[in-house]
Amino acid sequence: MPELPEVETTRRSLAPALEGATIESISVARLRMLRRQANPDDFSRRLTGQRIVEVGRHGKFLMTQLANDIVWVTHLGMSGRVSLVGHSADVLPHSNVIVSLSTGTDFRLIDPRTFGFVAAFTSEELAESSIGRLGRDALFDLPRSRELAALLAARRAPIKALLLDQLIVAGIGNIYADESLHRARISPLREGGSLQPTEIQALRKAVRETLQHALRWGGTSLDDLAYLLPDGRTGDYVNRLRAYGREGEPCRRCGAEIARTVIRARSSFWCPGCQS
Ligand SMILES: [Zn+2]
Repeated sequence: MPELPEVETTRRSLAPALEGATIESISVARLRMLRRQANPDDFSRRLTGQRIVEVGRHGKFLMTQLANDIVWVTHLGMSGRVSLVGHSADVLPHSNVIVSLSTGTDFRLIDPRTFGFVAAFTSEELAESSIGRLGRDALFDLPRSRELAALLAARRAPIKALLLDQLIVAGIGNIYADESLHRARISPLREGGSLQPTEIQALRKAVRETLQHALRWGGTSLDDLAYLLPDGRTGDYVNRLRAYGREGEPCRRCGAEIARTVIRARSSFWCPGCQS
């Protein structure tokens, strides 16, 4: 699933192409993509003819601000990606939403599994949606160690599960939770509330460094190539992963075998040799 580095990489590619452009027309091939919109007709009605002011992001959500005070939300779900191409480019399979711009460019949301969605929300609708309850952004607005300690205090859940909880901090998913915990030398099985202040400091630093490092490489394109940059390139952080997907391989830090443990139905990759 695209996580913060993949969505932020997408945002940085989209911003120069979208900002200042006017939305000419919308085509939605799968109505399921509009399931978060109370009235599905609102998506097209609220976007068409509008100028794009700014392409933003909160956690894993692209938040595109329009001149009419509408926020166009895009979520890539499990397997979505955005392609930026000219109007006349061949339409690839699963191009479920196409937003055509006045500049001759199309924003195409390609999502084979249709777990992603788009919506056009007023600020009130946004505040009342699940997006309005998201925790602070893990890159732009990562809570300080003391605030993080308050968020984790008395929590009995494994720290891995708490890092995935978008209401605590928004943007971290399975890959970058495992990578951050490895970097911080903390076992994914530790109860959140048991972390000492020095460990919380180490974890905060690890989250920031992991996300920034992944961003430098354009995020992670796994073998399925579900995630690609909007220009079709792969995200090359996959070759630099330290824990995720490396079961049985030697830890790059201590040489012990990377283990896989299922935590809350998600595979967690970690090193029993140097994470405790
Ligand atoms: Zn190790």
